[in-house]
Amino acid sequence: QNTITSYFWTDMVSLKKRAKFSHKGTFGHALLAVGSYGSIGAAVLSAKACLRSGVGLLTTYIPSCGYQIMQASVPEAMCQTDPAEKELSICPNLEKYTVIGVGCGLGKSNKTKAFLKAILQQAKSPIVLDADALNIIAEESNLLELIPPKSILTPHPKELQRLIGAWENDFDKLEKVKVFSQKYDCIVLIKGMYTAIVLPNQEVYFNSTGNAGMATGGSGDVLTGIITALIAQGYSSEEAAIIGVFKHGEAGDMAAQERGQMAMLPSDIIEKLRW
Ligand code: AMP
Ligand code: MG
Repeated sequence: QNTITSYFWTDMVSLKKRAKFSHKGTFGHALLAVGSYGSIGAAVLSAKACLRSGVGLLTTYIPSCGYQIMQASVPEAMCQTDPAEKELSICPNLEKYTVIGVGCGLGKSNKTKAFLKAILQQAKSPIVLDADALNIIAEESNLLELIPPKSILTPHPKELQRLIGAWENDFDKLEKVKVFSQKYDCIVLIKGMYTAIVLPNQEVYFNSTGNAGMATGGSGDVLTGIITALIAQGYSSEEAAIIGVFKHGEAGDMAAQERGQMAMLPSDIIEKLRW
């Protein structure tokens, strides 16, 4: 009964052509709600990756302490700050945004938990959930029901275990993720070598790109920015996950070719993105 489908993303979906008479409004306005004191770097990486992936407009929503860092390191992004100095605490007005990516470097304070609950309640379309957004949901299981349909969850192995509990082997892990994906109608990644993309219709796609040079802090933040940008441009959640994971790994492979796996940085993955 196990439908394991293995395609290259190019077999499934192709990139939309950038129309000649397009303008920045054509490519969506993404909001990245990310960062906390000591993790503004995660916010910067996700923002840069989002901008390198074709988004029309990007606003970052970050704690006040990150304002100058963000404006100086990512001048292309607008920056709105939370009233709290070191964490996100208040959900901003979400109406004008095409898509929201949330979680990179967020932390798990009580204020941030309330912030995330408000985001989940107010979002009207799929969102991208990563890192501490996933850790918070794992701790506050009443939030699971609030995840907007077709949202994308991008856990690494530890975050995944917090969400679905321990597994016995890879097969068992995949089955548990499929159950979770169907139950909450969301796309779930199992990140790592051969990242699996599990769709609510129970199809599973395995990615063929990427390398162990990406096993370093910040790589996942880059992926969140990429997938958020793709949804902003009108790709479905399924397409955004499949294309995003592939291109993230492809850029990682190019970075490894140039720098070697030990020297490459997540910033190099961003620099190698080619669309
Ligand atoms: P995170 O742990 O959230 O920073 O995410 C790490 C990112 O790097 C994910 O997209 C992983 O798929 C990727 N990654 C980590 N280790 C490897 C590996 N050994 N081979 C390929 N990709 C990897
Ligand atoms: Mg991560």
